[in-house]
Amino acid sequence: MQSCGSTAYVAGGKDYSVSGKGFKNAYKSISVDDLKKNLYIIAGDNMEGRDTGSAGQKKAGEYMISQYKSYGISYPAALGSYYQKVPSEFMKSRKGTLPDSENILAYIEGSEKPNEVLVVSAHYDHIGTKNGVVYNGADDDGSGTVAVMEIAEAFQKAKKAGYGPKRSILFLHVTGEEHGLWGSDYYTQNPVFPLENTVADLNIDMIGRDDAENRGKQYVYVIGSEMLSTELKKINEQANKDSHNLILNYKYDDPNDPDRLYYRSDHYNFAKHNVPIAFYFDGIHEDYHKPSDTPDKIDYPLLQKRTQLVFTTAWELANRPERIIVDGKNTR
Ligand SMILES: [Zn+2]
Repeated sequence: MQSCGSTAYVAGGKDYSVSGKGFKNAYKSISVDDLKKNLYIIAGDNMEGRDTGSAGQKKAGEYMISQYKSYGISYPAALGSYYQKVPSEFMKSRKGTLPDSENILAYIEGSEKPNEVLVVSAHYDHIGTKNGVVYNGADDDGSGTVAVMEIAEAFQKAKKAGYGPKRSILFLHVTGEEHGLWGSDYYTQNPVFPLENTVADLNIDMIGRDDAENRGKQYVYVIGSEMLSTELKKINEQANKDSHNLILNYKYDDPNDPDRLYYRSDHYNFAKHNVPIAFYFDGIHEDYHKPSDTPDKIDYPLLQKRTQLVFTTAWELANRPERIIVDGKNTR
């Protein structure tokens, strides 16, 4: 099966379509074993719940960077390291102050359109340790963190096989989400790559569990995918057909939804600046923001499928001949 426009992909002598080996081998490399291994580490007790600016969060960040190094993926040259410091001063609110913290950025430069950048994001902070009890945040957002790492590794494998992305891809692990979307706010106010050259943000926040409403189903909530670009929703739907045919639940796209999830994770800071976004989410479940959000409760095969869906969408956005068009508004 080929996705739309795929004939143009073969023009350079290489088949970038979803039936080509470049895509297929990378897609297959996204494995339950890797996701599980990384999640047990990132959501382990010794990461202390990864509160913004804490020692545990820094330790998790160091582990993530060690993995990027092992994949052979570097940081944006302009940044000079994997870290973008988010200063304490920036994160001041009525609720108080937070210590300095860091966004973590890994980067693969595009082969044909390096100035056009796709962002794949997830927050790696969580809510820390309270009264000696660790809030592991395996689903929130350990699941998104390991998914982004696995997607990056898959793109790097494709690159090594001669199928590097045509556009650049920034793998953005933001901090301070739980305290007010600070890391993504900081990045979009201090972007390493101009936001007008940022083609889309695919944001992953909680994709390893199911909620009561969808118990046992093969589904994912997709939020905001047609707000700024009707093409993005279509591309994601085609990617879903080309991967696992999950049930795509658009319930939270209803402007009257009381949970207002469109505003509640890091993609919103991109949408505010007119960058098309899609937010992948599993729902508010019984362990949300509880110490019981642990890695043993993750549905790893479902986490793998959702990760492969995001990868397939990212592949299309990075490699399609034309950049997606912004034809909507960030208002509801
Ligand atoms: Zn979250």
